[in-house]
Amino acid sequence: MKWAIIGTWRMAIEGVTESAVDLNNGAFAGDAIEKAIKIVEDFPYYKSVGYGGLPNENCQVELDAAYMDGDSLSIGAIGGITDFKNPISIVKKLSENTYNCFLVGPGAEVYAAREGFQRENMLTDRAKKYYKKRKNETLDKGLSPYEGHDTVGVICVDKNGKMVAGTSTSGLFMKNKGRVGDSPISGSGFYVDSEVGGAAATGLGEDIMKGCVSYEIVRLMKEGLTPQEAADKAVYELDSKLIRRRGKAGDISVVALNNKGEYGVATNSEGFSFSVAVEDEEPTVYTCNKMKDGKTIYEIASKEWLKAYADRIKAPLTFD
Ligand code: ASP
Repeated sequence: MKWAIIGTWRMAIEGVTESAVDLNNGAFAGDAIEKAIKIVEDFPYYKSVGYGGLPNENCQVELDAAYMDGDSLSIGAIGGITDFKNPISIVKKLSENTYNCFLVGPGAEVYAAREGFQRENMLTDRAKKYYKKRKNETLDKGLSPYEGHDTVGVICVDKNGKMVAGTSTSGLFMKNKGRVGDSPISGSGFYVDSEVGGAAATGLGEDIMKGCVSYEIVRLMKEGLTPQEAADKAVYELDSKLIRRRGKAGDISVVALNNKGEYGVATNSEGFSFSVAVEDEEPTVYTCNKMKDGKTIYEIASKEWLKAYADRIKAPLTFD
């Protein structure tokens, strides 16, 4: 069978590229997902996932993550864990449990310590600087504290047709202590069924949860829609519904993959990107245009775009 792996944002490309090699050599989808997401978690310049993630209102990095096996439908999830290095490995292990497979805060930390997962202070000096700057800005200028968030969500199908989904995030910058978004919530931040396909979301968790958008995409694929049609329909309908009922919709972006290795994406916002590799397609970063007439358009990220991205994430922070 054809293998494929797709992840939200440009930040997934290094992990997608490494896992593509493993998948080509017959790796298990769960190991490919774990490796791809760990690479994002470990990179200090990705400021919304793992080490270097932006903190909550108390300047504490609280992480959410999930793992789902598309064969058994087993799920492992954590919300608001602090001071552990690789949330994706913890949730992969948790998915082996029959009970107690979604743990939050101190309970998740007790579990991770008992299972021997590595502790780490996840707050970097760079993230602390962003925190101080944003605190000053919001006090002085009344800016929304919630900008500056992203989730790495990855869906994979391996050579045996097995599918797995994984997510990892530090959630909204400046979130309230204890706030959990969509990323560890089955059906909202992720869903996968090897008999059909999978999807993962990124954006404003509070709005993504209002439409269980990942489950909806898988349901639509089961009805016969392609991943692209399903992603567009689910995001477009949720966006329209939120605007109709609440006057506005937060950012909602998704990636979708079916068990044949076909993929699709959708977004209602500017600036979404994704990373993908398929057996017959080199690892590639794409940038997306906001949906027009219910359809999302994407194109290969230009060299200029990729360079500007690389420069921006490592740019020295001139403020204190
Ligand atoms: N969906 C995440 C959350 O709400 C953040 C993001 O993906 O931008 O926690």
